[in-house]
Amino acid sequence: MLSSNLSRDASGVLCFAGQRTDDLAAQYGTPLYLMDEDRIRSNCRMYRKALRESFEGQALPLYASKASCFTQMLRIMAEEGMGLDVVSRGEICTAKRAGFPMERVCFHGDGKTTEDIRTALQEHVGCFIVDGIDELLALQKEADALGVHQKVLLRITPGIDPHTYEAVSTGKVDVKFGVPIETGQAFEFVRLALAQSALDVAGLHCHVGSMVFDEMVFEDTSDVMLDFIALLQKELGFITQVLDLGGGYGVRYLESDKTMDIAVRIRALSEHIRRKAECVQVPMPYILMEPGRSIVADAGLTVYTVSAVKHIPGFKSYAITDGGMTDNPRYCLYGAKYTVLPVVASDEEATAVFDLAGRCCESGDILQPAVLLPAGLRRGDLVAMCTTGAYHYSMASNYNRLGRPPVVMLREGKSALAVRRETPDDLCALDI
Ligand SMILES: *Cc1c(COP(=O)(O)O)cnc(C)c1O
Repeated sequence: MLSSNLSRDASGVLCFAGQRTDDLAAQYGTPLYLMDEDRIRSNCRMYRKALRESFEGQALPLYASKASCFTQMLRIMAEEGMGLDVVSRGEICTAKRAGFPMERVCFHGDGKTTEDIRTALQEHVGCFIVDGIDELLALQKEADALGVHQKVLLRITPGIDPHTYEAVSTGKVDVKFGVPIETGQAFEFVRLALAQSALDVAGLHCHVGSMVFDEMVFEDTSDVMLDFIALLQKELGFITQVLDLGGGYGVRYLESDKTMDIAVRIRALSEHIRRKAECVQVPMPYILMEPGRSIVADAGLTVYTVSAVKHIPGFKSYAITDGGMTDNPRYCLYGAKYTVLPVVASDEEATAVFDLAGRCCESGDILQPAVLLPAGLRRGDLVAMCTTGAYHYSMASNYNRLGRPPVVMLREGKSALAVRRETPDDLCALDI
């Protein structure tokens, strides 16, 4: 099985976190997002331990809440001692409801509005990640008006290609995020930030992309950042106390994907950073990392009911589900690959090829092309899609006025709703 929280019981039924997925589907309905809470917690602990041990206590992982954000999830992050990345007032509000300590919250985003800035200042978020000069000046103005001092990190674009999908690549010179080093703009950005009376520049932030497997991406990024840190020290006398390296470690969606030991990677990275800091003669900064996907992706499984099977002789077969691009837009967005499994393994092998489709009014509403499922698949059968914990619930939409599926947390053999199913009445609730 793709992940150790997947198994089949003696009768061939797919179990997730030790619980029968057919029973869960019967209890909560489909489409259904299941989340393995024990796995979420163990992923957090792995990151915290690896960072603590590798950087002698001078490091912290921040959970990138955009990967999956709801109150119960952020409560878990608070309990596990994580920091938190947020990018909107909605995420700040969720953090507050979860009782998340605001001093461990970092406010991200390339398009913060004045209202966003005011809310975040009033809620006393620990840190702003300032994306550029327009935001810098707006933040100075608002902080000054409120008579507060705000800690900030400055988002810098290191000019690194993470060798991943174009749509999730964020570190190259000409992306919309941050301020590039290569053009000289980052240097001016730092100089200007240091001159702002209401802002306390603690350090720098960078994030080069998502689904990173390449061995050297974080090492190369740190090299570029530490060279820049050394330049700032020499030219401006500025000591960078905090270096945030962003998120991005990849996860396995397919059996054929590489396995990666993140703890081992972090240890190697820490040694690399220490050597580089020594070499360019800057003090070791406090290190932040911002994992999202690698905290929650393998803790998620989506269960669908097949609504229809269509065979088009000489062409292809479709298995149409009760979900679709509304609960998972990732194949439509960037061709994301997945492992799809029948919930009940029959005697018959999974040998027929289907395009797993959704119910939305778009021909492109495909969850995954060419998946292997039993040839006798029919209406009413259940199928499961693996590794759906990250960027699924958080990316879900209401296209066709479909309600978003519930999120059910699985822990120590028990299940409980964390987000209830959206009803047709919920969907009409905002209409005047
Ligand atoms: C998306 C994002 C992350 C998280 O990335 P993952 O690939 O989910 O680990 C972290 N930091 C920033 C700035 C991001 O935009």
